[in-house]
Amino acid sequence: MKKNILDFSKEELKSKFGFRAKQLYHWIYQKEKQNFSEMENLPKKLRAELEESYKISNLETLQKQEASDGTVKYLFRLPDGRTVETVLIRMREERVGESGDILQQARYTVCVSTQVGCKVGCSFCLTAKGGFVRDLSAGEIVEQVLTIRRELQNSTKENVVYMGMGEPLDNFDNLVKAINILQDENGLAIAPRRQTVSTSGISTKIDKLGSLDLGVHIAISLHAVDDEVRTELIPMNKAFNIQSIIDAVKRFPYDNRKRVMFEYLVIRNVNDSLQSAKKLLKLLDGIKAKINLIYFNPHEGSEFQRPTEKSMMEFADYLNQRGLLATIRASKGIDISAACGQLREQNL
Ligand code: SAH
Ligand code: SF4
Repeated sequence: MKKNILDFSKEELKSKFGFRAKQLYHWIYQKEKQNFSEMENLPKKLRAELEESYKISNLETLQKQEASDGTVKYLFRLPDGRTVETVLIRMREERVGESGDILQQARYTVCVSTQVGCKVGCSFCLTAKGGFVRDLSAGEIVEQVLTIRRELQNSTKENVVYMGMGEPLDNFDNLVKAINILQDENGLAIAPRRQTVSTSGISTKIDKLGSLDLGVHIAISLHAVDDEVRTELIPMNKAFNIQSIIDAVKRFPYDNRKRVMFEYLVIRNVNDSLQSAKKLLKLLDGIKAKINLIYFNPHEGSEFQRPTEKSMMEFADYLNQRGLLATIRASKGIDISAACGQLREQNL
């Protein structure tokens, strides 16, 4: 079977193809070519060799749905027939130009999957319902971004968030490889500071990621301030409790200017009281943090309920008034089930 060339770092390609590795990266990621035959500055013989042993495109777009807010959800078929979902989130950003006028700028965030299914099994998450199937390879992660890049002509650089299906730190080596391939200067050149790894809190792996000092952002899915409640939401909390996560975050190498993002899924009558907000403040004391409050997005068969808008506002206000930067995540793409926790494997 042909190998996926997107699975290879530039260094690995260098050891096989020498200085041609740089040219290959350029053709694949910057010129977005999908056929080796079009790579004009490579010798014909090499092109034929590559053609024989490697593939560039491994994902097939089975479905593409656009939500009313412009969010696009892709359903990709992997070579073994499994599927993953990837979400493109568009934002308009306003910026004051040199002459004082307001410029509209398009911003894109690609939300990628790292696994088919997930082992963590959070009780509120639709991805968890299908169990765990397999890890994605580095190339399968990278190709989600590459495929979308091909469609975003002349855009400003996109951000990448590892917040799709799966627990990124549970697929550690492939995640790290994908981060590096995506940031390669001859490739897509998406700097680590534009990449955010979201984790349900595997403390030991947060440390491991920190030790590599890649410069990526981390987002911690905290969701609760008591271990009892958190364990109900995220069973793995038994092994990696709240304090172990907070300690790991404190050890994580962070540029002074940056804040660690904590995600807090707000569920009615579970964790939405001001009592919880108060505990949250205490817990994050001493960490340069920002907190992203997420409305629980219901799905079929889920026992939880969305919080009221009023309780969400009160929760956010409570934190903001006491100096903890809290934002409420505008759920994107709800009408096409592209919002947080709504991604899953699908058979069409
Ligand atoms: N596995 C990683 C990354 C993917 S999940 C993690 O858990 O962090 C991305 C985010 O969506 C997480 O913060 C997750 O808690 C949240 N999420 C999961 N199910 C949700 C739901 N039903 N409603 C809203 N957010 C949800
Ligand atoms: Fe896995 Fe994240 Fe869903 Fe939990 S919320 S089951 S860790 S994908």
